[in-house]
Amino acid sequence: MRSTRLPLAAAIAILFGLFHVRAAAQEPIDQAMIAKIKAEGMGRSEVATLFHTLADVLGPRLSGSPAYVAAARWAQDRFKEWGLANPRQEAFEFGRGWSLEKLTVEMIAPRYMPLTGYAEAWSPPTTGIITGTPIYVGDSSADAIERLGDRLRGAIVLAHRPQAEFLREDRMQPSDGTGPVATGNPPFPGPSNATPTQKLLALLQANRAGVVLKPAATEHGTVRVQGSRDTSDSVVPTVVLAAEQYNMLVRLVAAGVRFDLRVELGARFHDDVNTYNVLAEIPGTDPKLRTEVVLVGAHLDSWHTATGATDNADGVASAMEAMRLLTALGARPRRTIRVALWGGEEQGLLGARAYVKEHLASDAARSTIAVYLNDDPGTGRTYGFYMQKNEAAKRIFDAWLEPLRDLGVKRNVIEDIGSTDHVPFDEVGLPAFTVIKDFRNYDVRTRHTNADFADAVKVDDLKQSAVVLAVVAWHAAMRDEPIPRRRP
Ligand SMILES: [Zn+2]
Repeated sequence: MRSTRLPLAAAIAILFGLFHVRAAAQEPIDQAMIAKIKAEGMGRSEVATLFHTLADVLGPRLSGSPAYVAAARWAQDRFKEWGLANPRQEAFEFGRGWSLEKLTVEMIAPRYMPLTGYAEAWSPPTTGIITGTPIYVGDSSADAIERLGDRLRGAIVLAHRPQAEFLREDRMQPSDGTGPVATGNPPFPGPSNATPTQKLLALLQANRAGVVLKPAATEHGTVRVQGSRDTSDSVVPTVVLAAEQYNMLVRLVAAGVRFDLRVELGARFHDDVNTYNVLAEIPGTDPKLRTEVVLVGAHLDSWHTATGATDNADGVASAMEAMRLLTALGARPRRTIRVALWGGEEQGLLGARAYVKEHLASDAARSTIAVYLNDDPGTGRTYGFYMQKNEAAKRIFDAWLEPLRDLGVKRNVIEDIGSTDHVPFDEVGLPAFTVIKDFRNYDVRTRHTNADFADAVKVDDLKQSAVVLAVVAWHAAMRDEPIPRRRP
């Protein structure tokens, strides 16, 4: 008689196989709801209108600016129009706002050439139009700058050495392959100067220079510009130039070629020190679970030089559309599904931090957040989620990703990522995850630059992202058990 005993390895393989099937099968998948969400999200999508309104009509949304306030009001109005419950804005203290009113940077002699430059956010305005031969101090010692004395007064200053270091590669796509991944923003090289930067800027301010020009650390005419809301009125107005143009100007100085520039920067500060998060919800229906909240969000604010299309109008449009899809389908989730559009992300996740501080101060309050799903870094379609080292949650999210394979999802990664709005929730022990998106031309081209326009985003990818968010939010809201917290 032939032996019916299995080799040990095969027995283990079968056991593991059974276990795997069981584990996946334990996680209920609502195929009917997924089909409805896909049909609405792919067939009757409104995400293109949402995205183009944000990125083209409303434009850049620097926190604290009237443009941000207009965007927040627009989003709140959409939530109201769709019938979400309790559409509202929540104020938090941010600091004064800033708007750019005018900027020209031109070479006017020995030939005419307009230059590509952008004011740092919160830069004071120039005192009218400044015309003159710029002074180069990138290679000057502090003493040498001091000796320039009165020559600096009202002058156009090339403050840094020519830019030689650039961010030339986007980060790796975390969802490719199966191995561990490095996550996070690649570092941007800073400008270089002989005198330490703080000392240099203090000397220029003390000698009342007219305007500082500095080079971008991005190539091919791309200009990456940020700024600090703590900038005082008395600092020297600062304009970032395309690196290739800045470098040309310094080469002209080195060659002893005399040339003149004309610079005018108009800017306005705004007194309202608050900025605003926008929230609304689909109330939960289960008597036991409706006080628990599945939070879906993205940051509404952007930097100011382009229109914040990939950072982060795409994320906002997807989060809003996910809520619209669920509302249009008449979804009655067991838990409450709340959308949150944050302000002040670019200045340090301030809106999300304010929410955690205001609403989630106690253990009891924190226990009401079932999960936070964030849509920010990268652009294009959603491939999965960064699971913040939470293995138990990853198994659940893996099961939810499976029925979305036809939409091009790839995988969830176990690694964590920082620098976006799930972080304040993660820091207080809540399950909070951000989506994995594409990074092609994101780091080197669009993130915080003058190239962050709507052309960098495909509407089909926005539809996909909204469907993925809606499906995951729905399953999180319907699950019997809460999403497991990460073990400390
Ligand atoms: Zn950003």
